[in-house]
Amino acid sequence: MYSGAVTGVGPRYCPSIETKLVRFEDKERHQIFLEPESLSLDTTYIQGFSNSMPPHVQEEMIHSLPGLENAVIKIYAYAIEYDAVNPLQLKPTLETKVIRNLYTAGQINGTSGYEEAAGQGLLAGINLGLRIQNKEPLVLRRDEAYIGVMIDDLVTKGTEEPYRLLTSRAEYRLLLRHDNADMRLTDYGYKAGTITEERYQRYVAKCNEIQALSDKLDEVRFTMKSDVNEYLATLGYEPLSAGLSALDLLRRPHVELEALRKYLPFDFDERIGRCVEINVKYEGYISKALRSAEKLNKMEFVKIPEDINYSEIPNLALEARDKFEAIRPFTVGQASRISGVNPSDISVLAMYLERK
Ligand SMILES: Cc1cc2nc3c(=O)[nH]c(=O)nc-3n(C[C@H](O)[C@H](O)[C@H](O)COP(=O)(O)OP(=O)(O)OC[C@H]3O[C@@H](n4cnc5c(N)ncnc54)[C@H](O)[C@@H]3O)c2cc1C
Repeated sequence: MYSGAVTGVGPRYCPSIETKLVRFEDKERHQIFLEPESLSLDTTYIQGFSNSMPPHVQEEMIHSLPGLENAVIKIYAYAIEYDAVNPLQLKPTLETKVIRNLYTAGQINGTSGYEEAAGQGLLAGINLGLRIQNKEPLVLRRDEAYIGVMIDDLVTKGTEEPYRLLTSRAEYRLLLRHDNADMRLTDYGYKAGTITEERYQRYVAKCNEIQALSDKLDEVRFTMKSDVNEYLATLGYEPLSAGLSALDLLRRPHVELEALRKYLPFDFDERIGRCVEINVKYEGYISKALRSAEKLNKMEFVKIPEDINYSEIPNLALEARDKFEAIRPFTVGQASRISGVNPSDISVLAMYLERK
């Protein structure tokens, strides 16, 4: 790769040993893991040692490792380079803009990774199915699913290097939790025909139970004389000075629904209780996250000084720093549309500009 024989940009998140040597030249050590490949084989995969060196160099490299002086190489390491469709030529349904009814998913769209390929394959498959049935396509929004973030990034920003989906690429991380995945996506799956009637009915029943428990907790009022004050005292709270609903009490830090159970005039399912509790506890953080996303949108036209020194900004991801330095965007809005730059990088940049 460094002789220029391979011109493609390598995968950023799984760099070869020669790339690591160049990019992290200040590091003094590098860990290598020897991974047995299977119970039935006697081969070992050398994790952390991928490279594109000629075989005779690889022989020397391997034999220089303590313990591997006599190792026999069965398969030499190799660099990969592959052709991809420019994802800017795709619709958000993953159908190509040029050829009707042709959908692409996975590595061919410039991504790398198992989950990336699987997520796109699912959506491309669903959309092709919907097309055949003459139904409305399914496009997930950025605040609904990581798949939505990934496909939106690909089709609006494109990618110049193998794309991986990282949580930092989502501006609404607090909404994209695993505990609420069913709430976010079951309706879509049901409409698209990928979820059975039985599973859907179970989901509807769960939603109803959550709503019912929330309503009940909102109705129960604890008074100044309530026994719940014993529990509050153990958490260091003053006794209630006025009536308060169980739901409001749950909003307080450290108050747990399970601990409130014995003070409530009704019983509830533990699983449903957990959902209600998470919703209540997250409310404050979610509205804060929505406010800060709104604030970032307002930064769209803020100018970036021409002499800005990106290496001076702490906590900026290496990838964003590289891109900012190469492109030197004029405004925060332009910076946010650079492929590989994430909402979290824009927050860091905005904070830095504000302080300046
Ligand atoms: C060495 C290595 C290590 C990796 N490690 C990881 C890892 O640890 N974690 C991770 O998440 N990702 C890893 N990846 C990346 C991941 O494997 C790929 O990004 C992912 O498998 C791509 O899936 P895909 O379905 O898009 O493509 P592929 O899995 O490549 O599937 C494409 C399929 O199409 C078939 N095909 C090609 N041409 C034709 C044709 N003309 N007609 C019919 N069939 C055809 C191919 O045979 C192949 O089966 C690694 C990749 C490599 C090379």
